Amino acid sequence: MDNQALAALLFPDITKSIADYEALYPPRDLPDGAVVTRIAPSPTGFVHLGNLYNAIGERLARQTNGVFYLRIEDTDQKREVEGAVEAVIDAMNFYGVKFDEGATVEGETGKYGPYRQRQRKELYQTIAKSLVERGLAYPCFCTEEQLTEMRDEQMANKENIGYYGKYAACRDLTLEQVQEKISAGLPWVLRFRSSGDAEKMIPVQDGIRGELHVQENYTDFVLLKSDGIPTYHFAHVCDDHFMRTTHVIRDESWLATLPIHVQMFDTLGWQRPVYCHTATLMKMDGESKRKLSKRKDPELALSYYRAEGFPPEAVWLYLLTVLNSNFEEWHMANPDANSREFTFSLEKMSSSGALFDLAKLDNIAKDYLSRQSADMVYDGLLAWAKEYDTALAARMEAKADFFRAAISVGRGGDKPRKDYGSWAQAAKFLSFYDSETFVREDECPENVSAEDRKAILTGYLETLNFADTPEEWFAKVKELTEQLGYAVQVKKYKKNPELYKGSIVDVSNLIRVALTGRQNSPDLWEISHVLGEAETRRRIEEYQ
Ligand code: GLU
Repeated sequence: MDNQALAALLFPDITKSIADYEALYPPRDLPDGAVVTRIAPSPTGFVHLGNLYNAIGERLARQTNGVFYLRIEDTDQKREVEGAVEAVIDAMNFYGVKFDEGATVEGETGKYGPYRQRQRKELYQTIAKSLVERGLAYPCFCTEEQLTEMRDEQMANKENIGYYGKYAACRDLTLEQVQEKISAGLPWVLRFRSSGDAEKMIPVQDGIRGELHVQENYTDFVLLKSDGIPTYHFAHVCDDHFMRTTHVIRDESWLATLPIHVQMFDTLGWQRPVYCHTATLMKMDGESKRKLSKRKDPELALSYYRAEGFPPEAVWLYLLTVLNSNFEEWHMANPDANSREFTFSLEKMSSSGALFDLAKLDNIAKDYLSRQSADMVYDGLLAWAKEYDTALAARMEAKADFFRAAISVGRGGDKPRKDYGSWAQAAKFLSFYDSETFVREDECPENVSAEDRKAILTGYLETLNFADTPEEWFAKVKELTEQLGYAVQVKKYKKNPELYKGSIVDVSNLIRVALTGRQNSPDLWEISHVLGEAETRRRIEEYQ
């Protein structure tokens, strides 16, 4: 076979050489140890949690004065959705992830572009052409039916699956045969001519997993599809080489095709990047663990956390806790430090199915929000409400001081309250303060009869004095409790329940329901002072 003639036949318009691209994209001038990494999402419109997780690379790049960039893997036009690139950029921005270069909403920035793969066709074809010239790639005209037949036969014979050896029907076509088929207008894909041995295991260093041993690739996999656009495998190798990526941080599902990738790097004589395969996000489903699924689990979409209003830092705290073995300890020692101050290392990342658990996120987020200032919570809630609950946003803006005061209740001190972890939860929780949204959700405590209800609330109103200190106020509640035959000490009530109608818990829960609509609430005295005397009296009277 005349490889030069075949290359010219297949790629008549390609005039550049690999050397041209080496000159165009020189090695980056960065300090030793600088990490150059990226996220490379496909513009499907679905930004998932894994995209954020893999954006952990940004922290590595920052720590080493390296580069973090955004590449758009848009080779599959069928799956492309309008506005998807904007959605990725917007989501990353929301989580504080900043790109040094790559695709932007307006276009792109950086010297290693284009950063959208479809604009790099000439580059891929140049590399492909050089492989044809070296006798390492050839056109394949097999139809889908032929390929299915081949697979069926391999399955029936219990043989290795794939296009290789005697099954590689187009491997040894002559130049004339190729010419004939091309003139007849038959579509073709370009395949790599692999000389790999299925019996051989080759070592690959993984930044997270250490040394891996993978089966050598023995299949003649596809480099270019029939429209001349590369497969993920070929594009990844060309792009990460010419964009001078040092670390490829990606999901562990790519481990299966890693043999193809290292074979390409080695064949092209390019230095392999450090592969870092991150653990797939799993969840418990009944008794068993399974992969998070786009179809079944809304929490796989990054938009879920924003819509629920989990603060971005809380999501990061959660992700780092689940995915990094030494993060939790650091966070416990530095509870108020931003997660960005944590020195992140790949070796400490989990390598097997990371268990995802919304209840844990909730706890972390509640703890996080309980440590924030009232101003931060007010601003965060307002920003969320402007997007997801405009009625709340309007009320918050009209009564800013009132909302700030409500948010301040139970905040600060050694044991701040942890009533909400997300803005949606906060909106729900705080709703009782505002008379416009106040509803009584809970019933009067069981131990309190209708008659006592009236007596307690009337007695409460009679002695209520807004000038009292909290201690004076509480002394009056105790007095009222005793007068009406309820136990002031819960212990005493529990010991001899027949001696009392109930305890101080019933009395105060009744006042709680009157005032907040719930049997569970922050400190009643503080709440009353946020509501003001008139509203406090109005609610108690209303419930008498
Ligand atoms: N487009 C691939 C994905 O979304 C990128 C994988 C990679 O980072 O190389 O899974």
